[in-house]
Amino acid sequence: MTQFARARRKKRTVIIPLGSTEEHGPHLPLDTDTIIAREIARRAAEDTGALVAPALSYGICTSTALHPGTVGFSPDTFRALLRDLIRGFHAQGMRFFVLLTGHAGGLHVNAMREVGEEMLFALPDIRVALLSAYDLMKSETSDLVETKGDSHAGEMETSCLLAIAPGLVTGTAKKEYPTFPKAILVRKKMRYWKSGVWGDPAKASAAKGREILERVSSRAAETVRDLERFRE
Ligand SMILES: [Zn+2]
Repeated sequence: MTQFARARRKKRTVIIPLGSTEEHGPHLPLDTDTIIAREIARRAAEDTGALVAPALSYGICTSTALHPGTVGFSPDTFRALLRDLIRGFHAQGMRFFVLLTGHAGGLHVNAMREVGEEMLFALPDIRVALLSAYDLMKSETSDLVETKGDSHAGEMETSCLLAIAPGLVTGTAKKEYPTFPKAILVRKKMRYWKSGVWGDPAKASAAKGREILERVSSRAAETVRDLERFRE
């Protein structure tokens, strides 16, 4: 309480890490996205002095919803939670919000954007930035990551976990590149995506993970500084 009271007098930026509880293949923990988002947030905060909120460890999962271990929110619940978190931190003096997600599901990322747009008008004195660890990894590490189309529980996420929490990685997994029907929504997702891996975990290493985290976190720190300087 006293640390927070002191901190908010100097800094009004909060990074809210958003994760998921979601299958990440046979080899990574269900909270992989939360672990990665929290780590990037922690590093970006170290760089910038921003505050880091406790992570929200559940999100909106669709393509993995039926795989063992996935537990998520409906979009309505998730949007309501994000609104309440922003209002809550605003009431506590925060003005600059960075929503940083480790989970890249389409509906999840859309919901973040919807709430961000809505809150800009509901609270006229705030600024909002949206960051996705997956997008940052794609844009910052294309020379480093070997797997084309790496996405879920593959080379990038496995490398990050090997760097952050190697004890939580149980071996490796086979590569998979699922294809879902074009345009048609399917109920039985596991028929099209067996292993829950999208990419090639065999290409992962702790050294790669350290480099990915370094680059992605310094990009996230830049966003924090951009947001604080930003004038419309
Ligand atoms: Zn993930």
